[in-house]
Amino acid sequence: MPTIQQLSPSVVNKIAAGEVIERPASVLKELLENSVDAGATRIDVTLEKGGSDVIRVADNGCGIAVEELPLAVASHATSKIRSADDLFSVMTLGFRGEALASIAEVSRLVIRSRTADAESGAELEIVGGAASPVQPIGCPVGTTIEVRNLFFNTPVRHKFMRSPQTEMGHSIEAVTRLALAHPHIHFTLSHNSRTIHDLPPVATIRGRIAAFFGDELADDLIEVASDSDGVTLSGFVANPMHSRATGRMQYLFLNGRAIRDRALQHALGEAYRGLLLTGRQPICFLRLEMPADLVDVNVHPTKQEVRFQDSGRLYSLLLGTLRTKFLSTDLQARGATPAAMGPNRFQTDEAASGASELVSWAKEQLGRQTAEQLRAPIETNDTRRSISPWQATGREPLSLHRIDGPAALPFEMGRPVGGFDIGQNTETAPREAMSEDRGRERPGSLESQNALQVHNRYLVVETDAGIEVIDQHALHERILYEQIREKVLAGGLESQKLLVPEPVDLTATEAAIALEHANVLAQLGVEIQPFGGETVLVSSYPAMLSNLSPAEVLRDLVEKLLAGGRQPEARDLVDELLHMIACKAAVKFGDRLTTEEVDSLLSQRHLAQDQHHCPHGRPTALVFTREDLDRQFKRI
Ligand code: ADP
Ligand code: MG
Repeated sequence: MPTIQQLSPSVVNKIAAGEVIERPASVLKELLENSVDAGATRIDVTLEKGGSDVIRVADNGCGIAVEELPLAVASHATSKIRSADDLFSVMTLGFRGEALASIAEVSRLVIRSRTADAESGAELEIVGGAASPVQPIGCPVGTTIEVRNLFFNTPVRHKFMRSPQTEMGHSIEAVTRLALAHPHIHFTLSHNSRTIHDLPPVATIRGRIAAFFGDELADDLIEVASDSDGVTLSGFVANPMHSRATGRMQYLFLNGRAIRDRALQHALGEAYRGLLLTGRQPICFLRLEMPADLVDVNVHPTKQEVRFQDSGRLYSLLLGTLRTKFLSTDLQARGATPAAMGPNRFQTDEAASGASELVSWAKEQLGRQTAEQLRAPIETNDTRRSISPWQATGREPLSLHRIDGPAALPFEMGRPVGGFDIGQNTETAPREAMSEDRGRERPGSLESQNALQVHNRYLVVETDAGIEVIDQHALHERILYEQIREKVLAGGLESQKLLVPEPVDLTATEAAIALEHANVLAQLGVEIQPFGGETVLVSSYPAMLSNLSPAEVLRDLVEKLLAGGRQPEARDLVDELLHMIACKAAVKFGDRLTTEEVDSLLSQRHLAQDQHHCPHGRPTALVFTREDLDRQFKRI
């Protein structure tokens, strides 16, 4: 029988640390929040190795009285609430009284603090939870907390720390959130003795957005403000010409706290509906202020999630405010202005998308090859002819994935080009003859391309075994994807040196992950170097993407890196791009196809290694055997 025992405070603290202290940035967040709660008007942050070695936060807040210093690092000790009732009127960022105790348990922590009425300050050092006696020390009013060697005594956690660049990215993100939420506080941030940000107090956060995300974005912000029954909404949203692949740049602050809220994110998405391409996410920096009793912040240890008393009202407030604002804003004109942005992104057709250049590249490649094949001897057809496309209905794997055969590339501009229809070249099954056959009992072997397009979406084909229903877009996408991939992998990606390397402003997290994966990017032909701050210099990028701006290529790749989480392979990244090209270049679901196009598409089917799935993994065809049908009709 296992016996029940009370856990020691040290274990309790380690468990608590597991909840809230995930990495240096989480320590930084907690320290910054304490400084804000202490009423600081200036907060200086110093980091070494992204915070893995040293995190120091110095503030000019109220300080901690000498006799209370040991309490500050005790668990469940706080100056911010007294009773459970206070939980429903929390106006401070902290209240759980756990952060310092948790941090002290897994690091070497030093607190120096002095209150305004104290003669001198005091210092307390705790190493892995073991405190030394409090020492008097000379220091200015306020508090400095220094955290060294995070996770030095928890090897498992230590192992999970990433490179200093990545940790730095997260740390800067923590500073960004606090600095955007509290514009009246002077923030500075230095890393390895270099000042990265010096942000004096400001009335509006536009300047801070510029400091963190660059002028390009800050210049295209739309200011919003509204209030309803004691709830105010203010801040900025980005002109829809700026968007991201993920919701990472949706900053939402509730009473000075950065939060995530699905309902509000949804409202934001709704407000931008029709203004952004599908899959793109808006950017916002919004502040909500409301009486503390309208929200429960005691939901999540890191307090990133909260529970609103009336979430529906907030949803309407946000959606209504943005809609009204967008209606009175000339988004179209703004969107078209900066030359660097390329085509007007408000068009929702494919020409407007970032992928459009890729698409035209793909189409051009395919078209060029088609033209070359026009001149090429047709002899390959003979080998091809002996393999009926319908032999490939599936089961046996066909290794015929050459991309240079005439029949392989009959699609120009996403459409089949006449003259490459294998069906027509197949002596054994002239189309005319087969069409006369329609409706009659078929001989055992099927060599016709008899197919019917229905609803401009599906191709219905009679096969030996029964019938097949093919998703035209999915099939074409698969074929194109494999053709282009083969080409790209065979030749590698040619890169093109830029005459003048282009500086690209990224966020700290983006810059960190880009630099960390510089070698993967190099394999893709994208060469980058650090260029100070969050700017990255692109010195070369793939020639095949030369119609896109280097910034756009880099940003899209970085989004993929960020979304990937794990160590992405160059191959995966190339793959992502190929998916995009193939998807955009393929005939659409809903496109009317001519008989020739249908035949041509079907005739290439066997060229795809995996003809049964589109590159996204959806099936390209469904099979109904004759037996199935007979059974359904109760004939057997
Ligand atoms: P919480 O913030 O939830 O109260 P913490 O463990 O983060 O818990 O901090 C414990 C206490 O230490 C706080 O309640 C506060 O009284 C004090 N404290 C921590 N950091 C500071 C600071 N920078 N300035 C003044 N007091 C602080
Ligand atoms: Mg705290």
